Amino acid sequence: MSSSLKVSEIFYSIQGEGPFSGYPTLFIRLFGCNLNCSWCDTPQAKPPFSHKEFAVNDLVRLWKENFCSIPFVTITGGEPLLQKTGVVELAESLLSLGAIVELETNGSLSLEGLPKELVKVVDVKTPSSGMEVFNRLENLKYLNDKDVIKFVIKDEKDFEFSLNLVEKLKIYEKVQVFFSPVHGELSPKILAGWILKSRLPIRLQVQLHKFLGLP
Ligand code: SF4
Repeated sequence: MSSSLKVSEIFYSIQGEGPFSGYPTLFIRLFGCNLNCSWCDTPQAKPPFSHKEFAVNDLVRLWKENFCSIPFVTITGGEPLLQKTGVVELAESLLSLGAIVELETNGSLSLEGLPKELVKVVDVKTPSSGMEVFNRLENLKYLNDKDVIKFVIKDEKDFEFSLNLVEKLKIYEKVQVFFSPVHGELSPKILAGWILKSRLPIRLQVQLHKFLGLP
């Protein structure tokens, strides 16, 4: 019998972030989060909102029967790794059927034991989130150059914090580094100027789906 997962929502949209930005994608948003970021943009993935339980087999069947011409599946949250056993089972099943599977995680939980083909997009929490004490930078050893470390930046203090970590740990030598402005709080153009000034291989990411008014 397959595991079950607590699911907040399942939807089909344009991926607005990460290495597959712009591709049509099936999103499986898992319920529950262990953090409480000040600018959280997915409160619906946490209590008091509701969720439904799905067997992993049923989620795999949903993709196979309705979306298999679209290889991109994103497992997101909330924090998906609160349900790690089911996430590994889901990712392994989808990967074995030829899907390209991405996991978006808040970076506070261990990435040990995840499938190596799973594309990981891992947050490093900045000071404005109020959650930076939960960063788990030792996770870098489980990542490679197909994976992403993402900093969500609200202001100059966040930028300096992020740049300092990127330089100190030479994160760009191991994985892709994305800096993303908090939508509606920091102008992408200002962040672009700061990135250009840094002269480091940092990729500016805007949340494309928000500009398109998509979920
Ligand atoms: S980790 Fe994500 S879901 Fe959790 S509080 Fe922060 S922004 Fe919201």
